[in-house]
Order: sequence, then C-alpha cells, then structure tokens
Amino acid sequence: MIIKVSKLWGGWAAITIGPVILTTTLSEAVIRHEKVHVEQWKKSPILFIPRYLLDKQYRLRCEIEAYKTSLLHGMSFTTAVQHLLKYKTGETEEAIIKLLRG
Ligand SMILES: [Zn+2]
Repeated sequence: MIIKVSKLWGGWAAITIGPVILTTTLSEAVIRHEKVHVEQWKKSPILFIPRYLLDKQYRLRCEIEAYKTSLLHGMSFTTAVQHLLKYKTGETEEAIIKLLRG
C-alpha cells in the first residue's frame, strides 16, 4: 500500500513499515526502492523490522539491494552512494561503491 504524504520525519523521501510505503514522492526510483523493502519484509515479517533497526550489516545489505533497484529506475549512482552513507553503517564510501557495483 502506497500512501502519499507531504512530509516525513528525518527528511526521508519515503519510509516503509511492513507492507505500507509512506512517501513524499511518486518517483519510480523511490517507489521501486521501497517495494524491495516490502519484499524483504514479506520474507521475514516478524524479524525484519527489529533486525533492520539493530543489525547494521543486515540494514546495509537490505539498502544495497534496494538502491540497486533505484539505479535501474533512474537514480544516479552518486545519489545512491550519498543516500547509503546516511545510514551510518560504518562502511567507507569506497566499500559502499564496491557493494553497489557488485
Ligand atoms: Zn531503503
């Protein structure tokens, strides 16, 4: 379910909570990204949210998968890297670039 909102906390463009996507934009790159998170949640509906919030490496893997989809739908590589750095997973920019290309 996609719900268009005018503003989200933290300056995020979109946030997915289980099957619900709250988004400030209907950009294809953003919606496709969030739909990847819906699929990740479906694979593990009980554990996805706590694991995503508590396990930085799991969060990074989930975001890399989602940003790879964003890249296929119009997001620039530079924007994807900048966004990934905001998650503060402890990875360097070089490591993130390698993961995004891998
Ligand atoms: Zn994401």
